[in-house]
This record gives sequence, C-alpha cells and structure tokens, in this order.
Amino acid sequence: GAAEARFIVNNPFSKAQHDLALGSLPGGNTRTLLHTSPFPLCMKQGKEAYVWDLDGHKYVDFVGELSAGLLGHTHPQIQSTITRALTETGLSLGATTPHEHAFAAELCARFRLDRVRMTNSGTEANLHALAGARRFTGRRRVVVFSGGYHGAVLSFPDGAPAENTVDRDDFVVVPRYNDLSLACSVIRGVEDLAAVLVEPMQGAGGCVAGGKEFLLGVREAAREKGAVFVLDEVQTSRLTPGGLGTEMGLDPDLVTLGKYVGGGLAFGAFGGREDVMRVYDPRVPGSLAHSGTFNNNTLAMCVATTVLADVYMPEVCVKFNEKGDQFRERLNKVARGSRLSFTGRGSLIGLHFTEDGTEEITCGEDIKEKLRPDLRDLFWFEMLEAGFWLTRRGIIAMILVTPDQELDRFVDAVREFLERHRGIM
Ligand code: PLP
Repeated sequence: GAAEARFIVNNPFSKAQHDLALGSLPGGNTRTLLHTSPFPLCMKQGKEAYVWDLDGHKYVDFVGELSAGLLGHTHPQIQSTITRALTETGLSLGATTPHEHAFAAELCARFRLDRVRMTNSGTEANLHALAGARRFTGRRRVVVFSGGYHGAVLSFPDGAPAENTVDRDDFVVVPRYNDLSLACSVIRGVEDLAAVLVEPMQGAGGCVAGGKEFLLGVREAAREKGAVFVLDEVQTSRLTPGGLGTEMGLDPDLVTLGKYVGGGLAFGAFGGREDVMRVYDPRVPGSLAHSGTFNNNTLAMCVATTVLADVYMPEVCVKFNEKGDQFRERLNKVARGSRLSFTGRGSLIGLHFTEDGTEEITCGEDIKEKLRPDLRDLFWFEMLEAGFWLTRRGIIAMILVTPDQELDRFVDAVREFLERHRGIM
C-alpha cells in the first residue's frame, strides 16, 4: 500500500545495498528473521539506544538485538572492559584463564547453578543441555511446546518441529503452551523421555508468559518420568535478577542462558545440577565432550562478568523491568478497544494485531486464526516513519539506556496511529 510505497522512496541506499548483497548472500540475507519485504533496512551505526540507517534516518532502537542488546550499543563500561581485555589480556589464549573461572562463579551465584559451561550461542547451549540430559538419562526423546523457540535448529513454530530442526523425530511437541493437563498427558505418554525443554515465557512465540502452575506442573510431570527438566532462559534471564525460574521457584535441573549476558558479544551457557553436569566432567572416563574454540574467549568472559557484576546488578534489573511493566500497561491502555494488544513481562513486549484485539493470550493457538498481518505491517512501516525501529513480527526488547521521553513518544505514536486508522482498527 501507500506506506510501503513511501518506504521504497525514502530508503534508496538501503535498497541499493540490498541489491548488492544479493550477489553474495541468498536473498541478500544471513539471518532469516532480518529479511523484510520489499527489502530490509540497512543500519550503519548504533549509539546508546539509537540506530541510524544508510539513508540517514535515526531510530529509537526497540529491536534491542532481539533482547541481546539490553545495554545499548556503546555502553561505556562494556567499551572499557573490551579495551582492557584487548590491551592487557589478548584474545583467546588457547588455555583456561582466571577470567572464565571468575565469570563461571558469578554465573552460578546469580542463577543458582551448581555447575555451568559456556558456549557461543543460545542454540548451542540448548543443544548441549539436551545432549547432557540424554547422556544422564540414557534416553533419547524430548518434549517441547508449540510456539517454542530454542535456537536456529531447535524451533517448533506450529505444533511441529521446523524443517531445519536437528533430530526432528526425537521431539514430541505439546500442541498448546500453558495447557497443563494437555502437557501432562503428552509427557506421560512418551517413551524413552530424556528431557522436557520449555521457555518460562515464550519469546519468539510472541512474548507469551507461562503460568506458574503450568510450569511447576510440567516440572513435576518431567520428574515423575525421570526426565531432565530444562528451562530455556536465554531471553527470560533478564526479567528478574536470577531469571524467571528462580523467581517462580521452578527449581529446574538445567538452565540455558545467552543473549544479554554476553553484553552484545556472541554468548551462551548451560548449567544446573551437579550430578547432571557431571556428564561433562573430563576427568570421568567416557564423559561427554563439549568443545568449541571460542567457548572461553577472553572478550566474552570479561564482558559478561562486567554485565552481571557491574552493570545489570539485581537492583538495576528489578527497576528496569518495573519500568517495562509500566510501559506495557500504558500501551495496553492506549490500545484498549482496538485490534492491537501487548503481551509479555517486564522489559520484553509482544504486540499483536488480531480480529478482536484479544488481550488474554496464553498461547499462539489462541490467536492463530485471528491474526491481522496486514495491520501489523502497516504499523511497522508507520512506526519507522515516526522514528522507531521494531521487529516486523512485533517484539519490543527494551534497552536499559532508552530515555523515558522516547517511551512517552512511542505511546503517543501508537495512539496517533490508532486514531489515524480508526476505521480499520
Ligand atoms: N532460546 C531462546 C528462548 C531464544 O529466544 C533464542 C534466540 O532468540 C535462542 C534460544 C537461541 O539463541 P542464539 O540466537 O544465541 O543461538
């Protein structure tokens, strides 16, 4: 429509860059999610809580690197840690270092893990957690939930493993998140069950929070089967000081982490019960190997220590997520009575355009038939024009250093959008 036509006119340099990229990347793309039609905006710079595109537009960054960019683009403490690590330590040293030991201790204390191991991504963290669970139990299969996203090769968007999911036949997908009796009956029925893997709030699935009763019940069902309960906190660990599992008393056997903890660098980790993690103890004959050239790279280890110990301390985390809750409430107030609604928890917000503006969304299946992607796309184009960089899908991952006035400005922009299009909202 008209909004898309304006987008094309307003972004000639992004378009030219995309055309160039078509010559070396399939579809000009190396991260599927970042492809948007008719072409993606190409960013050239990030500073604090803002990004600038090739055509010189400045945006408030609400993508927040899909929750990994929590600290913004140029946080002074992260910059100084990186500089110190580069000048005093050097890059990967091909050896264990005190940096990784200091960080591991910090991670264990913060997220109540007995033992932990580092990886380079949340995807890897989940793959290794599942491998550990399989070794520990001597079993193979894994129960996951529809709408669950656990990484590039571990996603279950519509009640089935996505086509690129590894070992697809080993996964059993519970067809609805947040449905405890359904989850229990599926878990009880699975033979050879090694693990149950669940997000305490589905992130990519639309910021749909899991109920406490549901999550506790899933844990119990997993335990009754002697399976390992793996909590994917790659996104949710930012929502409370020790992650949602700690806050909700879920007592998971294994936890997976990633995203913001790495301060913007490639990062992941998995850890939990000592007896389960012992399958990775190299002193034990026949233990599982978990290698990775960059698992303990000095940059990530030093930066991640700074993130937890000096920047995103528990009190900062609590305040920031309270601000997120208030922001979401204001947005929902503005949107009430329209087809737009906002879900999530704390600093993670999902926006949904549905036929009836349902606010009560407990799983993707609640709204599947009612989605209005046409309105979502219109919103995306017009928010760009108002200076807000969002994911097309409609997830806002707030950034710690975003000025309050920008949040106010967004609330106003949403109100004006809904008024401008009153007839179809
Ligand atoms: N688990 C969850 C819940 C995620 O949201 C993501 C990333 O979006 C991952 C795992 C995968 O992490 P990464 O992209 O670092 O591989």
